[in-house]
Amino acid sequence: MNSLYIHIPFCKSRCIYCDFYSTTLGNDFMSSYAQALEREMCLRKHYIQCSRVHSIYIGGGTPSLLPTDILTNIFSAVKRHFTLVSDAEVTIEANPDDVTPKWLRGLSGTPVNRISMGAQTFNANLLTFLGRRHNAQQIADAVQACKEAGITNISLDLIYGLPEQTMEDWRHDVESALNLGITHLSAYALSYEEGTRLDTILRKGLIQETDEELSRQMYDHLLTATEEAGFLHYEISNFALPGFHSRHNSNYWQSAPYLGLGAGAHSYDGHRERRANLPDIKAYIAATEDVPHETEELSTEELYNEFIMTRLRTSGGVPLNELSPEDRQYCLSMARPHLAHHLLSIQNEHLRLTKEGIFTSNDIISDLLKVGN
Ligand code: SF4
Repeated sequence: MNSLYIHIPFCKSRCIYCDFYSTTLGNDFMSSYAQALEREMCLRKHYIQCSRVHSIYIGGGTPSLLPTDILTNIFSAVKRHFTLVSDAEVTIEANPDDVTPKWLRGLSGTPVNRISMGAQTFNANLLTFLGRRHNAQQIADAVQACKEAGITNISLDLIYGLPEQTMEDWRHDVESALNLGITHLSAYALSYEEGTRLDTILRKGLIQETDEELSRQMYDHLLTATEEAGFLHYEISNFALPGFHSRHNSNYWQSAPYLGLGAGAHSYDGHRERRANLPDIKAYIAATEDVPHETEELSTEELYNEFIMTRLRTSGGVPLNELSPEDRQYCLSMARPHLAHHLLSIQNEHLRLTKEGIFTSNDIISDLLKVGN
């Protein structure tokens, strides 16, 4: 299963919590960036061994800021260099206020069949605090517009544990999202990334982190509400109606190879090499040969750690029979106390987090990793 990731590093404004690579000064670069993407496709298409791709994910940044004729050109370039399988999942990330009937008409010539929208919350005060540029009505309008345009596979992102967010606020967010008739929901606890404005105001004491108990209650509510709505909890932060899990992200979690194109994009060759294009849009556009990047050769220990970290987050768990005998023994010995406390379970040779274990998943995962990482 091969995947393509294409990074679009443009945003209209910066949200206070975000540490993804993007620039707000990109309007003049959009066409030349799209041309540079095709140059990279041409140069690096053999990074994945087969040109057939099963999923494409256009992420950012804010891909929905790109004029649709530029997006169409990017997809034409993809078609020139790769073969999309007939049922490929093709996702584009979008800001709700960009998703208008006109924008969707502009996408009609492209293979996009899935939209992932950063809703984050339906609360007006919290949206303003986060620096988001949409409101709750625009989220609802965007979902409706997608459906009318024939794109019914729709994912929303939510964030919980926001400063001063109450349990009632969170219940309202989850209910509002599920009531829109979406197929997929991603919900993440707010994290304070170094270098973000959010982190700065936390350090200045202007806001407080949500306490652990409330955060746990919010997550617990999320599990209950999504289950009642018929969603499957297939990864710690991801929920989908049957058949609508994100194939693209699932490929990542299965350690399948992917080719990341664009400034700041990451790639994995499916064996030991990880590669990161440098987050420098001007250098990316100016490159005449391969774009500026760094590569990393994963050690055997790092491969084990990645395998545990990604698989244990999924409902499928860690397939113990895919570990070497030594790694299996190590993993089971580190898992023993958590198995005894029913935070982990083993079924059919798969080590999984129990519902109780999910609440302390970070600690459990870190206990199973090999020391030194
Ligand atoms: S969260 Fe999305 S829209 Fe906001 S700054 Fe980050 S990439 Fe841009």
